[in-house]
Amino acid sequence: MKVIDIINGRKPSLSFEVFPPKTSDNFESVMNAAIKIAKLEPSFMSVTYGAGGGTSEYTTDIAEAIANTGVTPIAHLSCISSTKEQIHNLLSTLKARKIENILALRGDIPKEGLPEKMEYHYASELASEIREFGGFCIGGACYPENHPESRNSTEDIDNLKKKIECGCEFLTTQMFFDNNILYNFMYRLYRTGVNVPVVAGIMPVTNAIQIKRICSISGNTLPQRFLRLVDRYGDKPEAMKQAGIAYATEQIIDLFANGVNAVHVYSMNKPDVAAAIRNNLSEILK
Ligand code: FAD
Repeated sequence: MKVIDIINGRKPSLSFEVFPPKTSDNFESVMNAAIKIAKLEPSFMSVTYGAGGGTSEYTTDIAEAIANTGVTPIAHLSCISSTKEQIHNLLSTLKARKIENILALRGDIPKEGLPEKMEYHYASELASEIREFGGFCIGGACYPENHPESRNSTEDIDNLKKKIECGCEFLTTQMFFDNNILYNFMYRLYRTGVNVPVVAGIMPVTNAIQIKRICSISGNTLPQRFLRLVDRYGDKPEAMKQAGIAYATEQIIDLFANGVNAVHVYSMNKPDVAAAIRNNLSEILK
């Protein structure tokens, strides 16, 4: 099934994410986690793409296993370090394995530098190519607090519009910890004529180290209310986990109550966290 049809449906959509292992040693445990999360019957599940693409076959294998459980998968695909030939081969593989949804990404600039001859510069070029290839529902990433490389939100939204013109049918947001940041962003999108569905990305923060790492990468704003939780429970792992799940649940309920129809949970290969959130929303999702 196409993700666009799921998120445009009448029921609220709650989806989960898994990321592939870096090495074959962890493949089985990640696959087991993905299957456990799929058994929670999310609206769909995403499988991320390792930076640089070295583990692209794991993304495809895990997405295919998710599809075999009856849950719709979306495979992430990033292009900055890839050649057109590699992308075409991957698209052929995804099509042959009946994976119908792709989140088209540029990818972060690699630490070791950019390839000498770059064949892709932006996600919009990848989206165009996937559209030309045909047969896929294409999504793209968006940043309620702006992409770290953007000078301002006007520039970021103008670039987002290019991505939509090139074939992105929906957008999934970077995580945010204050829903007002999303509501302000959605207002700016509507005002500038962006009307594709937006899937709100929510990260349940279950340990204090995770939050420091995340914020150093993405520059998220952390509200005082959230920082109090980390201060109080950061050194008590089980309490931090419970508080992080409760905080994420509250964000999701507020989003649904305010008309956001699709929420994507960055469940980070943690079936217990995904299950706790799913259970907290059991009546709300009916
Ligand atoms: P783009 O849309 O290309 O934007 C990158 C920057 O370039 C932005 O500042 C934008 O404003 C600017 N820009 C875009 N088009 C133009 C243009 N035509 N002219 C000038 N400037 C332009 N990374 C992974 O490696 N694997 C994953 O699986 C993955 N999944 C993600 C999922 C989500 C929901 C999100 C939000 C991010 C994900 N990322 C992933 C991280 C992502 O790859 C990085 O944030 C990356 O730096 C930008 O990717 P993008 O697709 O948003 O890029």
